[in-house]
Amino acid sequence: MANPKTIFEKIIDDEVPSEKIYEDDLAIVIKDINPQAPTHVLIIPKTNEIPKLSEATEDHQTILGHLLLVAGKISRQLGVDQAFRLIINNGAAAGQTVFHLHLHILANKSFDESSVSDDLGHE
Ligand code: AMP
Repeated sequence: MANPKTIFEKIIDDEVPSEKIYEDDLAIVIKDINPQAPTHVLIIPKTNEIPKLSEATEDHQTILGHLLLVAGKISRQLGVDQAFRLIINNGAAAGQTVFHLHLHILANKSFDESSVSDDLGHE
C-alpha cells in the first residue's frame, strides 16, 4: 500500500486549503499556518520523491536548483530580498515535522547569530 499523503501532498492536490502565493509546474509557495516571523512562507516541490534533503540524489538537481530560484523570486515578490533567512530542517531531531522537502523563507524580523537555532526549532 502507498504511504499516506503528507499534508503538503494534500495541499498540492487541493484536498486541504492553503494560502498559496505562487505556483509553477514544479513548485508551490504557501503561507505557513504557524508563522515564526511576520513573513513566513514555504517553498514546496510538487514531487513527493524527496522526504528530506539528505535523501535527494543527482536526479533531483533540477528541482533543487529550481527551489532556490523560486526562493529568490519570491523574496523579491514579497519585498524582502534585502534580508531573509532560508531554512531547511532535515530530520525530526532538527525540527522537521513534515517529511516532504520544503524551504522556509523567514523575514521581517530581526536576525542575529543566536536566533539561527531558535527560528524553527519547534522547541
Ligand atoms: P518543518 O518543521 O520544517 O517540517 O516545517 C513544517 C511547517 O509546515 C511548519 O512550520 C508548520 O507550521 C507548517 N505547516 C503544517 N501544516 C500546514 C498547513 N496546513 N498549511 C501551512 N503550513 C503548514
